[in-house]
Amino acid sequence: MSTTHNAAKAAPMFFLRAPEPFLNRQRLTDCCGTMSTYSDDALCCKKCWAEVDFGQGDGGEFLAADDTTRLNGEPGDARSQRAGTTEGRPVVWVG
Ligand SMILES: [Zn+2]
Repeated sequence: MSTTHNAAKAAPMFFLRAPEPFLNRQRLTDCCGTMSTYSDDALCCKKCWAEVDFGQGDGGEFLAADDTTRLNGEPGDARSQRAGTTEGRPVVWVG
């Protein structure tokens, strides 16, 4: 039996390593690992201007201590809404 490891889909996830508790472990854009901003109504990467999903670089998603990502809460806050997981994807720290 082989485990399902799809290397083609294992794109890294970027997170901000910042001294400020509220900013630390914030998710960054998948494409460039940087912040995003709104251009018209779309959330766009500030570096390549590709449209990104909410939570990437907009300060809304954080990496919790159990390697899940959570929305609308401080990092590691078990009460905040679970958004996803880093399982199978390399984590890259920025900053
Ligand atoms: Zn980008």
